[in-house]
Amino acid sequence: MEKVIIIRYAEIHLKGKNRGFFERMFVANMEKSLKGIRHEIRRRSGRYLVENFDGAETDRIVKRLKKVFGVHSLSVGFKVPSDMDEIYAAARLVCDGSGSFKVETHRADKKFRLTSPEISAQIGGRLLDGDPALKVDVHEPDFVINIDLREDGTSLVFNKFIKCADGMPVGTAGRGLLLLSGGIDSPVAGHMIAKRGMMIDCLHFHSYPYTNMQARQKVMDLAGVLSEYNCGIKVTVISVKHIQEEIHKNCNGAYMVTLLRRFMMRLAERLALNDGDQCIITGESLGQVASQTIEGMTSSNSVVEKLPVLRPLCGFDKNEIIERSRNIGAYDISIRPYEDCCTVFLPDYPIIKPKLADVLAEEAKLDVKGLLDEAFATAEVTEL
Ligand code: ATP
Ligand code: MG
Repeated sequence: MEKVIIIRYAEIHLKGKNRGFFERMFVANMEKSLKGIRHEIRRRSGRYLVENFDGAETDRIVKRLKKVFGVHSLSVGFKVPSDMDEIYAAARLVCDGSGSFKVETHRADKKFRLTSPEISAQIGGRLLDGDPALKVDVHEPDFVINIDLREDGTSLVFNKFIKCADGMPVGTAGRGLLLLSGGIDSPVAGHMIAKRGMMIDCLHFHSYPYTNMQARQKVMDLAGVLSEYNCGIKVTVISVKHIQEEIHKNCNGAYMVTLLRRFMMRLAERLALNDGDQCIITGESLGQVASQTIEGMTSSNSVVEKLPVLRPLCGFDKNEIIERSRNIGAYDISIRPYEDCCTVFLPDYPIIKPKLADVLAEEAKLDVKGLLDEAFATAEVTEL
């Protein structure tokens, strides 16, 4: 009897002609996520099986595969020859202690001598005989024992369906650059876009020494959370310290955030075009804070020349974003106290609905190109 993990995939089956491409990417991503753990992944009529692994590694494998986009659900169980004694022995092992249960059988192997209801009845009967604490309840059982008789003469026996990440395999929908701050929103935005199959790179702006090293570590930890879904991640950090100093020195302080945002977007587009990213992704949500009005977005958007800017959280309430942040395991990191560069030199009264003409007049007081070149040269890259 061999312990196996059964993997069911999500939306990939919809992709008619491109199916081969999606499946290759899917398998490659699962392989990457299981790097360092001995295993084999095999395709078996409409699903995948993880085989040949050390049973003691089961939880670790499940934990990693749960985060691979494209996996709809998985089950831990056993692969046995399609023989009633063998199936019964496996059913005993997946039997979850006491309580009510039912046996559900699927029989792809139509040549097998018993029908599905006969198999369920016989295995259920033997389980009842073997354990007085069990009882059958076909309507509302505490647990289900599933038996899958495959055409190749083997059977899969398992109990639970473990819900996984769903979505599309990362790498099937291009590549995008996520503006990753240390807050709650941007990791959620990155997760949503990665879930649609886009490979994410990250860009973080810091203002060291005005912002501290803990703030930067926090961003790396958030990138670490995303990397588990993204099959690794590249993080670039750029210093905007001098840009902020120059805005502070030369411009109306009320425009600090508005002007800084425009520098960030220009730097993001330059990096994205350099690295082959096809869009910029932000965690902005309409009206959430002073800089996220439609006027604020117009001002920062107007410096982006070639790429689309995706704002997947635009229509979400903060509560919805927090719930997603918890679900992906980012929340506890995001709420660590820190200073973002946007809070350095923060004016008492920021412009909430900046007029583009006024923004341009303030920006004209700066050597924009020189500041961009200088900031871009501070870029440091880390691969997680
Ligand atoms: P978050 O929770 O993502 O920090 P927020 O509600 O604090 O968002 P802002 O600070 O206005 O909102 O930032 C809006 C978006 O701009 C962020 O979601 C992020 O995509 C980008 N951004 C802000 N600060 C930085 C930074 N220091 N580095 C990279 N991107 C940033
Ligand atoms: Mg923020």
